[in-house]
Amino acid sequence: MRHAQVDYSRRDALLVVDMQNDFCEGGALAVDGGNALVADINAEITTAHQAGALVVATRDWHPVDHVSFAHRGGPWPVHCVQDTEGAAFHPDLRLPADTIRVSKATAFDADAYSGFDGTGLGDYLRDRGISRVVVCGLALDVCVRATVLDARREGFDTLLLESLSAAVDADMVAACRREFAEAGAEVRP
Ligand SMILES: [Zn+2]
Repeated sequence: MRHAQVDYSRRDALLVVDMQNDFCEGGALAVDGGNALVADINAEITTAHQAGALVVATRDWHPVDHVSFAHRGGPWPVHCVQDTEGAAFHPDLRLPADTIRVSKATAFDADAYSGFDGTGLGDYLRDRGISRVVVCGLALDVCVRATVLDARREGFDTLLLESLSAAVDADMVAACRREFAEAGAEVRP
């Protein structure tokens, strides 16, 4: 079921986190329920864009032999390698032409879960006059979590649309909700 409608304005940015093939069913690091989010996220993008909000799409964008991969001692299987099909945005995701695309974790020797980590996104959004960040995408307990917490650290009002997100580990969701609340982020079911 979709959340209550968000009143978007030009001071909002909708952050669509990592809606990439490798994080959806059939991908290298698939999150259950990833594919099913696409239609509702597309509707959210349309609503936000029509209201003049900025649309930002982050993507995990690793070099071959990235430090987060298991054969390098990292926690994850090989995923989201630059310029591969797995790293591409979901084929049904409809991003407006003026979407800001943010690539993260592009260095060999460092991983990054948050869309703000090492990307300059916080300064960019401030320069654009953005005061609130609305977050959706994958995965709720990994990169969405890190992005929500960093958005608060960066001083943005932060709203997570939980029905437009899915977790790697469903058992982590309750703990994530508590963390978001403690950080001052609003969670809309
Ligand atoms: Zn990654």
